[in-house]
Amino acid sequence: MSMDAELRARAAKVIPGGMYGHLNAVLHGETYPQFFVRAEGARQWDADGREFIDLMCSWGPMIVGHRNPVVEEAAAAQQARGDCLNGPGPIMVELAELLVESIPAADWAMFSKNGTDATTQALMVARAATGRTKVLVAHGAYHGADPWCTPGLSGVTPNQRADNVEFTYNDLASAEAAAAVGDVAAILVTPFKHDSFEDQAFAEAEFARGVRALADRLGAALVIDEVRAGWRLDLRGSWEGFGVRPDLSAWSKAMANGHPIAAVTGVDALRGPAQTLYSTGSFWFSASAMAAAKATIEILRDTGGVALMERAGDRLRAGLAAQAASHGFVINQTGPVQIPWLSFEGDETLAQGVAWAAACLAEGVYLHPWHNWFLSTAHTDDEIDRALQRTDAAFAKLRSES
Ligand code: PMP
Repeated sequence: MSMDAELRARAAKVIPGGMYGHLNAVLHGETYPQFFVRAEGARQWDADGREFIDLMCSWGPMIVGHRNPVVEEAAAAQQARGDCLNGPGPIMVELAELLVESIPAADWAMFSKNGTDATTQALMVARAATGRTKVLVAHGAYHGADPWCTPGLSGVTPNQRADNVEFTYNDLASAEAAAAVGDVAAILVTPFKHDSFEDQAFAEAEFARGVRALADRLGAALVIDEVRAGWRLDLRGSWEGFGVRPDLSAWSKAMANGHPIAAVTGVDALRGPAQTLYSTGSFWFSASAMAAAKATIEILRDTGGVALMERAGDRLRAGLAAQAASHGFVINQTGPVQIPWLSFEGDETLAQGVAWAAACLAEGVYLHPWHNWFLSTAHTDDEIDRALQRTDAAFAKLRSES
């Protein structure tokens, strides 16, 4: 029995369902390992010692290489002095200063642990500011796993969903129609459409500017959920390129290269309402993740991290396109190159994508058949080329089986 199988059998006895949430390997496809023991740079090793070139980056958190020495040193130095204390360390102020300095739409920052904390807290600020209830959200968009937003409705009451009003991403008219419900506290939107199971889509400039104008007209807050895209597209905020600045942004995932932290940033006008919230958690102020976050963001800033990830993404996308063509497959590669995804044309059930992803896994590339992937600054030309050798073998296997 493999170590993974043994651990799964033990887990089944002491963990509901053996595993839950987005890391439940059963959801990723039968062949995916559940348990991992080590990571370094752009590689991860599973419990059976199999090595993978990691194109998922732990589903986003890793951005400057697993166990990046500078980040780990900053976190360890703080850990050695104390992490979870009677109050936050000076690092909390330093990190807030760094966010305010680097994100034009940020005049203040509040910290928590997970993306869901941040999206939820951002909506609390919007509601505190407006005294209103409703939030406009794009149909199918993921904003976290609390009752108000989890895609699974088990354990959720209708009341907990009653304040979400849906619109269609990139369809401004649908957002305007949704706003007719009245009592709108916030429009919550991701920087691009990255819903699971379907091709990704960039935000159209007209849509981005339109939701900004709509929020202004309503007197509601525009909240950008940067949890997935943050620090990979633009360190200043993902819609800076459109000239669109949100009132509030929710951040997490890549913020500290895998250390647990999230943030809400906001504009001056919402500082007062933010101050009125009672929002806290036992571990929200622990200092080592803050030290890791500061180090991560500084590395990205000082090394031109976004450009490095784009370079890796361009190389991967071009390589995959050439391979698919040479093996006679028509594929769609969508979304930003550094947060890529690939689907096979006409593969409605995703069966072909699942088979290709499984073949990639067998060749030693960890990626996903229905959730976007993530690249990091550790994906050097050499790592991408090695990954491409393996994906080529996966395309060949798929062709030989078809
Ligand atoms: N928003 C978005 C856009 C996300 O991608 C995620 C996580 N996948 C979340 C919110 C929730 O973050 P977390 O899982 O850290 O609570």
